Amino acid sequence: MNTESSVSSIKSLCVYCGSNPGRQPVYATAARALAQALVRRNIRLVYGGASVGIMGVVADAVLQLGGEAVGVIPEALLRKEVAHHHLTELHVTKSMHERKMRMAELSDGFIALPGGIGTLEEIFEVWTWAQLGFHHKPCGLLNVAGYYDALAAFLDHTMTEQFVKPPHRSMLLVESDPEALVEKFFQYQPPVVTKWVEKDAEC
Ligand code: AMP
Repeated sequence: MNTESSVSSIKSLCVYCGSNPGRQPVYATAARALAQALVRRNIRLVYGGASVGIMGVVADAVLQLGGEAVGVIPEALLRKEVAHHHLTELHVTKSMHERKMRMAELSDGFIALPGGIGTLEEIFEVWTWAQLGFHHKPCGLLNVAGYYDALAAFLDHTMTEQFVKPPHRSMLLVESDPEALVEKFFQYQPPVVTKWVEKDAEC
């Protein structure tokens, strides 16, 4: 994947989000607000290519506002007829792994709106890649109505227990307001830190 830091020019952002709408309308409202924040800055949406749940809401909102929405979907999900057929581009991949790699390559940063297992897996994967220095792009949670409060608290616990270094924890930005999160992405400076424990420190 492209290892360049692209914070100075964010042209495309990847949004991971639920294939379900969630229990409260506030999730769809936040998805539309995020779409607005992207289109206002001429940022292209990259996402999982589905028409369902919060995924469909964010893509529809971007398109309605005159922005560009690029979907990346594996063949298996395309066959299940959940694909959105009115996107600016729809990339079809052989596998989920290829799909996630393509989404990452097409994007200058990664945002998780509220979602389920797929959303969590996707944002954790790109955050892991950031920790390893495979890319230097910003990653963030859009903490709509406190959806990610418990997760953020647990992530602080992983730091307290010294499984995650503070600079690596700080790589995952958490904001409740879409505008503020996108603004933070533009300000993002990747921390200079190695994942690896120094040989001397191990003894
Ligand atoms: P989840 O959070 O479990 O609903 O999964 C949503 C995330 O996983 C999205 O960001 C997608 O990339 C992927 N995903 C899960 N289900 C689907 C689906 N039915 N169609 C397309 N992508 C999906």
